[in-house]
Amino acid sequence: MPKITHVWSREILDSRGIPTMETALQLDDGNSAVASVPSGASTGSFEAHELRDGDVKRYLGKGVLKAVANVTTVIGPKIVGLEVANQTALDKTLIDLDGTANKEKLGANAILSVSLAVLRAASSSQRYPLYAWVAALAQQFGIPPVRLKVPTPIFNMINGGLHGAGNLDFQEFFIIPSSAVIYSRALQIGAEIYHKIKDSLARRGAIHSVGDEGGYAPNLFTNLDALSILVEASRESGFNVGNDLFLGLDVAANNFYRDGKYSIRDRSAPLDRDSFLTFYNNLNDQYHLAIMEDPLFEDDWEGWSRITANFAGKALIVGDDLLVTNPARVERGIKEKAANAILVKPNQIGTVSETLQVIKMSREAGWKIIVSHRSGETNDTSIADFAVGIGADYVKFGAPARGERVAKYNRLLAIETELAAKK
Ligand code: PEP
Ligand code: MG
Repeated sequence: MPKITHVWSREILDSRGIPTMETALQLDDGNSAVASVPSGASTGSFEAHELRDGDVKRYLGKGVLKAVANVTTVIGPKIVGLEVANQTALDKTLIDLDGTANKEKLGANAILSVSLAVLRAASSSQRYPLYAWVAALAQQFGIPPVRLKVPTPIFNMINGGLHGAGNLDFQEFFIIPSSAVIYSRALQIGAEIYHKIKDSLARRGAIHSVGDEGGYAPNLFTNLDALSILVEASRESGFNVGNDLFLGLDVAANNFYRDGKYSIRDRSAPLDRDSFLTFYNNLNDQYHLAIMEDPLFEDDWEGWSRITANFAGKALIVGDDLLVTNPARVERGIKEKAANAILVKPNQIGTVSETLQVIKMSREAGWKIIVSHRSGETNDTSIADFAVGIGADYVKFGAPARGERVAKYNRLLAIETELAAKK
């Protein structure tokens, strides 16, 4: 059984020009692997801790040299000599070494960089494609095997909230191609509409620079204007909304919630929860949204149960900031029927094993699973393989543009080809 012989880590930049880290492992069978970690901007308060240096003389306090040192001097010596294929034991070592509930001692960024590098190194050593190795691990975790396929992509075409230019409250405006088409066709649909959206924005004189996830960050008047642009661009591309594709939102409601009220530019006065739920009912009559992520504040469990009941059978109510890929919060969400789908982001919890545990719980509850990037990304494509391996229903990797986003969408193209050749 191959063992780890060396561990390196270094500070690198993410797609926003903010430091993150990558970790490399060497095995005694000659294989090696590198993995890097992403970083969120609209983070839920219950996410695992991302360790930053806080030294304002470097990268405005956002350096990660402490997290890098934790990998090289604390974690490295403890995992050298361990069997790389035993992801569960390795992750347990990392969790125990940290010893805190939210990984604040060593940093979830430090821990995940190692956990992902272990995953990658083991797959190379076993001569498995990464997605197939993830599928094997998922089975070990009791996740029922599924026929491997590429999940349906969710494209974030317009960026608002903390990812945009500051004038749209909702964070992400989605185009979701029908799950009936194969992935390569879905990618084509997404890319064609992406370019038509630019034309629509240009006609309105709304600037069309892009936001953090590669979607346009326009100056529109209301959030609903952005949805109407998605409809217009889809039609102009020759696609039928409600048939060829569907619309969705990541509202990321935390970001405009204050003192029990939601302030959005579509309404002159802040809305309380009941009025915001009515707003969603009306919105849905008009746009028939297929997916609504974080429609309410991250700790309004009762409101979440109500909106999930309201949209049962009609839309996916997706918990991101609500659930933060955390087993305890997922358990509560299942018990309170507070969502019917989960956004899975490994860096919200910090290890591959805990992410698999959350996926198992979510699958058993009958929830849909969306595997997601972060707004600050690297060109690491492990998340694409991970999504295929665990049998995700959807992936959310941003717009079909910008290097760090298309690296993942392109990796899915390669996997689609490989899976087709195996049939
Ligand atoms: C999201 O909120 O779904 C997202 C990907 O953004 P971030 O990484 O900023 O949390
Ligand atoms: Mg989100």
